[in-house]
Amino acid sequence: MTDQTIRHVPADLPGRIQHYIGGAFVDSVDGDTFDVLEPVTNDVYLQAAAGKAADVDLAVAAARDAFLTGPWPRLLPRERSRVLHRIADLVESRDARLAELESFDSGLPITQALGQARRAAENFRFFADLVVAQSDDTFKVPGRQLNYVNRKPIGVAGLITPWNTPFMLESWKLAPALATGNTVVLKPAEFTPLSASLWAGIFEEAGLPAGVFNLVNGLGEEAGDALVKHPDVPLISFTGESSTGQVIFANAAPHLKGLSMELGGKSPAVVFADADLDAAVDATIFGVFSLNGERCTAGSRILVERAVYEEFVERYAEQAKRVVVGDPQDPRTEVGALVHPEHFDKVMSYIEIGRTEGRLVAGGGRPEGFDTGNYVAPTVFADVPSSARIFQEEIFGPVVAITPFDTEEEALALANGVRYGLAAYVWTNDLRRAHTFAQAVEAGMVWLNSNNVRDLRTPFGGVKASGLGHEGGYRSIDFYTDQQAVHITLGAAHNPTFGKAEESR
Ligand code: NAD
Repeated sequence: MTDQTIRHVPADLPGRIQHYIGGAFVDSVDGDTFDVLEPVTNDVYLQAAAGKAADVDLAVAAARDAFLTGPWPRLLPRERSRVLHRIADLVESRDARLAELESFDSGLPITQALGQARRAAENFRFFADLVVAQSDDTFKVPGRQLNYVNRKPIGVAGLITPWNTPFMLESWKLAPALATGNTVVLKPAEFTPLSASLWAGIFEEAGLPAGVFNLVNGLGEEAGDALVKHPDVPLISFTGESSTGQVIFANAAPHLKGLSMELGGKSPAVVFADADLDAAVDATIFGVFSLNGERCTAGSRILVERAVYEEFVERYAEQAKRVVVGDPQDPRTEVGALVHPEHFDKVMSYIEIGRTEGRLVAGGGRPEGFDTGNYVAPTVFADVPSSARIFQEEIFGPVVAITPFDTEEEALALANGVRYGLAAYVWTNDLRRAHTFAQAVEAGMVWLNSNNVRDLRTPFGGVKASGLGHEGGYRSIDFYTDQQAVHITLGAAHNPTFGKAEESR
């Protein structure tokens, strides 16, 4: 634990946050605002404009106008790419300030918030490069036809994002949507609106034309809902809870919108007896306690082969007890404060449920000396049966369930025995088993003998209740563009002739 008396509050915090529509900061049409809390004291530290349908209408109109009449969709990829690289440069040059604000607003440890700010810059750089390198298919039918793909931006993209690593996750949608020539309306999470408000200044400085980026703050059921239901928003990229995804899916259905959904997870980390146990313990500790456990790809269920189970649990619990909980702004902190008291209560209620479902071997509530703020001690339950709620349900906090298994088949059944299918981590030195298990596990992404180390070219997304569609690399480009097929006849027109029956008789 770190010393809680060390309290760093960023200088020049804004007292209020507005929308950003058509290149200008504006209040809500009805003047409404909502409170934003900071997770260490749960004090209200700013007011954010509470957007409703009328504000979304204005933002969509600005984005639509920029799409239909502005330069952005018509620029060459290289020209857009230059702006995106400037955005990346600006984010990089401000990484410390971004991290400071993000950590203050979300409770993420400062060192991890810094990593996320740099990753946001990298997302822009990656898609800036990708659109320049982009090639599209051409198909020849020799002597007869030439067919090619004309890739086009779609229009106004609605981007709806969650509160975990907010700035980075926004960049994961903003960068490909903008790189491909769309205009956007971003609706960030209401728990953490601070870092999203910084995009406007960054984009202006980088030379993004007014109206291309629009931001509407507000509650999901109001601003988010209006965006999903807006007839002039043909595609929605959403990251958040699976239950919210279901609501959005239904609300988008009457409009037949393009949807990309990155949803919840309950990812297994499977440790076989032949694994490098040191590496597996380190990785599975990091895998669930990094980012406060508020991580969609967290390895929140650890399945361990019986032969090493007791040793693993003992070592794991000892190490979990040494994970440093502390003020998010303290560079020594490994687990900070959970984002919001509502979320804190949810995580704490799962810990109480866990006490009746498994054997508590570390943590189990507030860490000692942290009587206020949303602090949760890294919590480990062993001997958790697969029927347990803490095995089945996403907790999204620093809580892990450990379960033994005897055979590879049993491990696979346990790994697949939940409604989610986002990520899986497999620890074994048996090459055949690593690959057969990876290919059989129901997960969108698998890491073998590795933590969650992303390669931005690979598909990102989940199966089952964890998502719909994939983003990452060219899959993001595909989501944010129409691929129109254009066919040209070469030589003589090849026509079956209709309507000339009389003539030939
Ligand atoms: P959430 O679903 O509560 O909210 C996400 C966003 O949706 C917010 O901006 C919210 O305001 C908005 N929203 C809520 N109701 C809405 C509605 N009816 N219509 C339109 N928008 C609405 O999720 P959260 O609690 O902010 O985030 C945590 C969840 O996100 C976890 O389940 C986590 O696993 C998931 N997540 C998934 C990924 C991934 O890539 N798969 C990444 C990060 C987080």
